[in-house]
Amino acid sequence: MKVYYENETSLESLKNKKISVLGYGSQGHAHALNLKESGMNVIIAEVKGGAAWDKARSAGFEVLEAADAVKSANVIMVLLPDQIQKKVYDEAIAPNLKEGDTLVFAHGFNIHYKQIVPPSNINVMMIAPKGPGHLVRRTFTEGSGVPCLIAIHQDPSGDTKEMALAWAKGIGGTKAGVIETNFKDETETDLFGEQAVLCGGSAELIKAGFDTLVEGGYAPELAYFECMHELKLIVDLYYEGGLSRMNYSVSDTAEYGGMTRGKKIITDETRQTMREILKDVQNGAFAKEWLAEYANGQPKMNQLREETKSHQIETVGVKLREMMSWVKK
Ligand code: NDP
Ligand code: MG
Repeated sequence: MKVYYENETSLESLKNKKISVLGYGSQGHAHALNLKESGMNVIIAEVKGGAAWDKARSAGFEVLEAADAVKSANVIMVLLPDQIQKKVYDEAIAPNLKEGDTLVFAHGFNIHYKQIVPPSNINVMMIAPKGPGHLVRRTFTEGSGVPCLIAIHQDPSGDTKEMALAWAKGIGGTKAGVIETNFKDETETDLFGEQAVLCGGSAELIKAGFDTLVEGGYAPELAYFECMHELKLIVDLYYEGGLSRMNYSVSDTAEYGGMTRGKKIITDETRQTMREILKDVQNGAFAKEWLAEYANGQPKMNQLREETKSHQIETVGVKLREMMSWVKK
């Protein structure tokens, strides 16, 4: 698979364009600041009166409401929460799009599940950093970057891929490597990954480990260090050198215990459940459920957030992290 790096990509195709970044949140502030510091002409759209409006102002940006920002730009990056993108698209973006404009996304959700269907005379591309927005910003200021995926959905102007690569370069992505995919694969792998492994699987694994130790009569503080704090140190080893690096670095006792017991945690049944989770992503059942939940005032989301907040690992964790001056607030 082709990986694009710094020296074979150029910022040129975006230099003469006017860019609007819609949303100054996690991804929005990172893309906007990095592009501005890469010499691009960037304005922001935010909700008037909101905290992010003032934040973007203080960072030196011109800030408008979405409709005006779309009118005055030719490249429009949608960095709003996925569940509100359709509404903002219908009300503020679609009525103000001009032939030849380019719509940009950082995740394929709304295009792939056809919540947003742009007219055929509009370029549609994606630049999806494989990391949270604050890391996209921090790595850029440190002179490196977060790897990015790019994808082209519509290309009436013929130079959409050049613009996607320019964007990826402008936010620092080509320092780490950029690969081309399509909206379907990005959306489905991203949703599956966050559900089964990154956000869902890992959180439940941590809670289950913690609960087991506490039920077994051990101190919650001990259980916290063992099941949450130390996980970062292990994940850092995966990140640097894969599973082998982790196994090399831990004791032989940990390596043998892990390899024999881990398989009892992730059983054939768990793998079958993963396949079902993937199926719900592929057939759109998850997207439908999440959009309906949001439209309904997200009662389930609120309840689950409360449950998470009140779990003992969270209350113990707050106290312990306060003692660790090196853990970023
Ligand atoms: P956030 O929720 O962090 O930020 C969204 C911003 O949009 C907020 O500042 C919000 O303001 C603002 N906003 C809400 N409504 C409007 C409106 N009508 N007009 C203008 N601004 C508005 O979102 P993320 O950065 O997490 O996500 C953005 C996109 O990036 C999504 O497509 C997501 O899938 C994708 N992505 C996110 C990643 C991440 O790490 N978070 C990683 C890769 C992709 P307010 O706070 O006032 O509501
Ligand atoms: Mg992701």
